[in-house]
Parts: sequence; structure tokens; C-alpha cells
Amino acid sequence: LNYHMTRFILSAPDIRHLPPDVGVEIAFAGRSNAGKSSALNTLTGQKSLARTSKTPGRTQLINLFETAENCRLVDLPGYGYAEVPEEVKRKWQKSLGEYLQMRNSLRGLVILMDIRHPLKELDVNMINWAVDANLAVLVLLTKSDKLASGAMKKQVREVREALSELNADIEVEPFSSTKKVGVDKLKAKLNQWFSE
Ligand code: GDP
Repeated sequence: LNYHMTRFILSAPDIRHLPPDVGVEIAFAGRSNAGKSSALNTLTGQKSLARTSKTPGRTQLINLFETAENCRLVDLPGYGYAEVPEEVKRKWQKSLGEYLQMRNSLRGLVILMDIRHPLKELDVNMINWAVDANLAVLVLLTKSDKLASGAMKKQVREVREALSELNADIEVEPFSSTKKVGVDKLKAKLNQWFSE
């Protein structure tokens, strides 16, 4: 697939406003500031593709992109925002759980975590929901350029070990938008999911 031809489709306030549940889509999730926008921009070779999601007031929207081959990339709102009221958080968690459970076209979930602070509570929740929903997961440990090679590898190994206990279809790879680490691995995984 040529991810450079990806274009923005729409922003949805919740999963009920997503396009019809046909075809194939892959969702991206992560704590706010994990590097999700940067990863999407790196994947698609477009400097400002995911900028929409950074516009104030739009951070809680689901942003949808589509490749030239009509494969959908779903940018889920970043989680872990302190400012978001409890009530809104609860509602969002509920609809997110539903989305992962019910969305037939959802083929896989990419979860991004800062390599220096992986497996926070909300990340673990997300991974558990994905496993419950029998979804394949690719974990990207972002900003891998922030660690020296040895520390980076150790971190990848530890996250792999922690997640191997779940006995699920989960892969863990280092990723860096600045140094273009893991981009080919990400593309290969997306290609695999989109063609399954
Ligand atoms: P998002 O909130 O998950 O969409 O995160 P962003 O993509 O906006 O990135 C959050 C911050 O981390 C920004 O200041 C980015 O410049 C920085 N960042 C993102 N990716 C990388 C990376 O690969 N390496 C480094 N060093 N910084 C990064």
C-alpha cells in the first residue's frame, strides 16, 4: 500500500458517527503526547496530516484517514488528559470498549507508548480490551531515539516479556519518527492486516 496517498476523510465526535462498518480499518491509540500524530505523519510522509487532531477542541474527536486503496486509518483520541472531566472519560471508555468489541471492519490496533514510560494503567486497559476483543495488536515504543541503544533494547525486551504473559497476538517494536525507526515494520504489519 502507498501510505503517502493517504487523505483525511472526517472527524467523528463518537463511534456512532463513523462511516459504515464495511471494508477494513486499523485504529491508532495512545496516551496524549505519546507521539501518535508524529507517527501518522511519518507513516504517510505528510507533515501535517494528523494536525487536525491537535486543533484545540478537536482533541476528543476520532479522525479518519483513507489510503488510495480505500483502507481506513482511525486516529482515536489520545487518552490520559488530566483536564477531561471524569464523566466524559467514563463515557468515552464505554464507547471505546464497544468500538473494539463490535466494529467488524476493525482488523488491528496500533498502541503507541513512550518508550521511557510504557504500560501505564490506561495503556494496560487498552491492551486488555483489545485482547478481550480478539484483536491483533502492534505496540510501538515511540521516541526510541531518546534512549541509548542498550537501554532501548532492554526496554523493548521488558515490554515484550510483560505482554507475552497475555498469550495474545501482540507484537512490540521500537519506533522513532525523528530517526525513522520502525517505519518499515509498521508498514509491513499494516499491509498484512489490510490484506488478511
Ligand atoms: P500525540 O499527542 O500522541 O499526537 O503526540 P505528538 O506526535 O504530538 O508528539 C508529542 C511530542 O513528542 C512532540 O513534542 C513531538 O515533537 C515529540 N515526538 C514525537 N515523536 C517523537 C520521536 O520519535 N522522537 C522524539 N525525540 N520526539 C518525538
